[in-house]
Amino acid sequence: MLDLHVHTTFSDGQYTPEEIVNLAVQAGIDTLSITDHDSIAGLPSGKAAADKAGIKFINGIEISCQGNRELHLLGYNFDYNEPILAATCMEFARLREERAHRIIDFLLEKGVKISLDEVREIAHGSAIIGRPHFALVLLKHGCVASIQEAFDKYLAAADFDKIERPKPTAEEGISLIKNAGGIPVLAHPALLKLKPEAEEELIKRLVGFGLVGMECFYSLHSPEQVDYYCSIAEKYNLIVTGGSDFHGEKIKPKIKMGVFLQKPLDKPQINF
Ligand code: AMP
Ligand code: ZN
Ligand code: FE
Ligand code: FE
Repeated sequence: MLDLHVHTTFSDGQYTPEEIVNLAVQAGIDTLSITDHDSIAGLPSGKAAADKAGIKFINGIEISCQGNRELHLLGYNFDYNEPILAATCMEFARLREERAHRIIDFLLEKGVKISLDEVREIAHGSAIIGRPHFALVLLKHGCVASIQEAFDKYLAAADFDKIERPKPTAEEGISLIKNAGGIPVLAHPALLKLKPEAEEELIKRLVGFGLVGMECFYSLHSPEQVDYYCSIAEKYNLIVTGGSDFHGEKIKPKIKMGVFLQKPLDKPQINF
């Protein structure tokens, strides 16, 4: 069993890379990729823990791109010492730090006062401060009744866009991954929430930029969506990948590691 989409404390996940590897072993996963948002910082410790546990580990990252809130590129099997990728991740962290200050002010304007120090603490001091960290603080203070409510009311509200951070274009994201020797994959296509024609147009454009794969198997994809995306992948000659997007039960209560439709495909689709 595999899981190629998992977050750790190096972005907005609940568990450290070592804990993730233990949980993966318990779940019967033998091939794991850690794909933190905009960060490679959890890969060395994840790899060391996976080697010790005797499971296969694939370097991963999930890069947020501009154009659609859910336009996320997964990158696999790259060299995390590649200098441009490493420097760009530092820049992503800096831009998130700037946004964090804006989020504090944004919440204040809406009458909610929280401190950035508290957000940092809940983020385990990670350089990648994500919206789920704010959601956890809002939940802790009883400002909202759930993580989902924190997003609906504040962090994914229509006017959040005006305080968003600059993000790379999808073309830049794909180049970044390829330049580091990696495989660029479109994450969770159904979350883009595009109409089929617009979605296929986007996929076609990404293929033109050098996209190699698509995350057809995903914990929130229905069996029909899995079949549909597999057919689109075949049409555009994309490899098919699968992952849960596990963040830990506190952050994404419905998503479990290794739990998504996994079925054998006619031909091997990914060969690391
Ligand atoms: P950020 O990278 O800071 O923009 O935050 C992205 C994280 O927030 C990802 O884990 C998303 O899955 C999560 N997220 C985005 N929108 C929502 C939403 N509407 N409800 C719950 N989680 C969300
Ligand atoms: Zn996340
Ligand atoms: Fe994502
Ligand atoms: Fe993710």
